[in-house]
Amino acid sequence: MSDAKIIVHGGAGTIRPRLWAAYREGAHVAACIGQQVLNRGGSALEAVIEAVVNMEDNPVFNCGTGSCLTLDGRVECDAFVMTNDMRIGAVSIVTNVKNPVRLARIVMDHTVHHVIAGESTNRLADAHGIEKIDPHALIVDRRRRRWQEMMDRGLEFMVDPELEASDDPADLTDEDAMDTVGACAVDKEGNVAVAGSTGGIMLKYPGRIGDTPMPGAGNYAGPSGAVACTGHGEAIMRVCLAKYCYDLLEQGVPVAEATSRSIAHLTDKVNGFAGLIAIDSAGNRAWATSTPNIPVGVAEGAVDISNGQQPA
Ligand code: ASP
Repeated sequence: MSDAKIIVHGGAGTIRPRLWAAYREGAHVAACIGQQVLNRGGSALEAVIEAVVNMEDNPVFNCGTGSCLTLDGRVECDAFVMTNDMRIGAVSIVTNVKNPVRLARIVMDHTVHHVIAGESTNRLADAHGIEKIDPHALIVDRRRRRWQEMMDRGLEFMVDPELEASDDPADLTDEDAMDTVGACAVDKEGNVAVAGSTGGIMLKYPGRIGDTPMPGAGNYAGPSGAVACTGHGEAIMRVCLAKYCYDLLEQGVPVAEATSRSIAHLTDKVNGFAGLIAIDSAGNRAWATSTPNIPVGVAEGAVDISNGQQPA
């Protein structure tokens, strides 16, 4: 029997201080929902999915309702699930589904594939009774305003090579530009799971696929634990950050050391902006980030966010 535990994150980036309470509270509530699933004997997979569904429905976070907008002002979501027995389900460029993480589980349970993208995600949702939504209902005012501000500044975020090469976290972690969510859990049976969901990055090129649905890049799970990443997807995928951290867990490196070494590796190799959470198979949890903020939640209480310290 294992100690059933969950940890969630609400995205690595730069969060405006006035939104801090909402991020902390949102991450804490999602962790409590996942922990309740575990406490009543539910699986790690069910726990991470229910935690992420809650965050997809919370307009604060960059996933489901409240997602970041593409260059042409639309929402395109990615989501991912994986379990310790190496089962995977992922969806990408999802436009009409209220909770993309539920569709990722359909890919895992009902198809022979791992990642399904684009228009056919609607067909899959219809075939399995997954709730659809008017794409406009996924867009919230705060993101629309942010999108307009960034467009007015002439930013072609993630398309402009100068921005891509920027060393300034204020560029690559622009406020309200990234707040993907993820959850890692271990259940009483010792099963481990990870789930992630995102609207990607503000002003992303339509059709851009981020790290979240790419196994081993944004998320990974196996018998030794689970890892969920967030931040600049292009940097994360260059170093396969989740798998890098998972491999350290597999080698027996303690989870706190594994997360901080993973961020050091990201910084060293690609000077990237990202954060990650991890859990090992015994239920030990940790997180690390190279960005100014990462909201992290556990059921025992909200965890402070800001790269070690509370923002002013
Ligand atoms: N990693 C996500 C992406 O690049 C963004 C985020 O974490 O907020 O799609």
